[in-house]
Amino acid sequence: MSAVIYPTTNLAATEQLSIERGEGVYVYDSNGKQYLEGLSGLWCTSLGYGNRELIDTTAEQMGKLAYSHMFGGKTHRGGMKLAERLAEMVPVDNARVFFGSSGSDANDTHIKLLRYYFSAIGRPQKRKIIARERSYHGVTVAAASLTGLPINQTNFDLPVEALGILRTDAPHYYRGALAGESEADFVTRITSNLEQLILREGPDTIAAFIAEPITGASGVIVPPAGYYEKVQAILAKYDILFWADEVITGFGRTGNDFGCTTVGIERPALMTLAKQLSSAYMPISASVIRGDLYDAMVEPSNKLGVFGHGYTYSGHPVACAVSLKVLEIYRRDDIFGHAARMGDYLQRRLDAFRDHPLVGEVRGRGLIGAIELVADKASGRAFDGGAVGAFAQRACEQHGLITRAVAGSSIAFCPPLIINEAQIDELIEKFGKALADTQDFVTR
Ligand code: PLP
Repeated sequence: MSAVIYPTTNLAATEQLSIERGEGVYVYDSNGKQYLEGLSGLWCTSLGYGNRELIDTTAEQMGKLAYSHMFGGKTHRGGMKLAERLAEMVPVDNARVFFGSSGSDANDTHIKLLRYYFSAIGRPQKRKIIARERSYHGVTVAAASLTGLPINQTNFDLPVEALGILRTDAPHYYRGALAGESEADFVTRITSNLEQLILREGPDTIAAFIAEPITGASGVIVPPAGYYEKVQAILAKYDILFWADEVITGFGRTGNDFGCTTVGIERPALMTLAKQLSSAYMPISASVIRGDLYDAMVEPSNKLGVFGHGYTYSGHPVACAVSLKVLEIYRRDDIFGHAARMGDYLQRRLDAFRDHPLVGEVRGRGLIGAIELVADKASGRAFDGGAVGAFAQRACEQHGLITRAVAGSSIAFCPPLIINEAQIDELIEKFGKALADTQDFVTR
């Protein structure tokens, strides 16, 4: 009997894998069995487990100042330094940073920042947000309203209507293309749908367009060439801000510093960061906005009064200290360069599964990827329900590999950025065995 309510599982679930300890890219369960952590926890433990410098930094900061806050005239040096360091790194002009504890709360903050900003400049009607199908932006009431997955909205009366969330196509060629449609025609069609949506709703009513450069939780969707170029041109034409949700793609994950760089998103106005910001050693997130937006908000003539928003743990000093150390390690040890090299290798090795009879598509960039399992390879027909994906995930676990079945039957990979070639070989070998078991399961 357990007193826990488990997140995103059948509430009646009884079978749980209890992870007890971690070292490098490996974790160990309560029986001492070793697993290669092929998903970095939940796409977040970029520097792996048991990193001595991060442990020491945490202990040191706890001893010095375990808690303080950044409310009402108070601040602390670690929080300010982290904001400055982030502002140097992100491709956002004159960036300003608001801290939270999770990707979801950082996205909520952005919704408020957008409303406050457009009110400040006398355009309060510019408030709707365009989000995409098959996107994942978190699970708070507002962030789940942005998310484009039914599982996060059904049963919860979401999206909240007052938030004015508009929905547009996912750039998912494999699942979204019409019969015989080329990639270029697909891009033209879905971006023209976007423009029609904007014109129908009225550009003056739309504040921003939110996108994960490459989606994670909804199946690792890598948009076709030219997609973001067209999207950005449309947004610029109608004066709509680009909001990049880099909660998974930030910090070296896709082969570059940020996912925006990998897919050609140029200088977004807003950016959401979390997860690898602290390598998940402490919960922390950042809502980053362009400097001119901030300047308009603090302009005394706007008469809006205080920005009435902030969390107890906004800028938690231990989380800030750990994140600063993480960013230092990223730079000092050229973690992004290493991840780019390992990412090329991982993609090559994953690609070799392309011809397997169960594999519909292999997707990814850098150290994030997914293999979509299908019922019929020729037509791409998906398996009904999630049983095959769940079986494959369990089979991976039996072979000592942690992955995750996402969007039904896509098996996702997102190992720590510190993984080496031999460990990637091990990941591939274990996955190969699990795939063979899955084939037996399917043909049984
Ligand atoms: N945005 C993206 C792109 C994510 O992948 C996630 C979580 O996976 C979130 C937001 C929400 O982050 P959190 O789970 O920390 O609230």
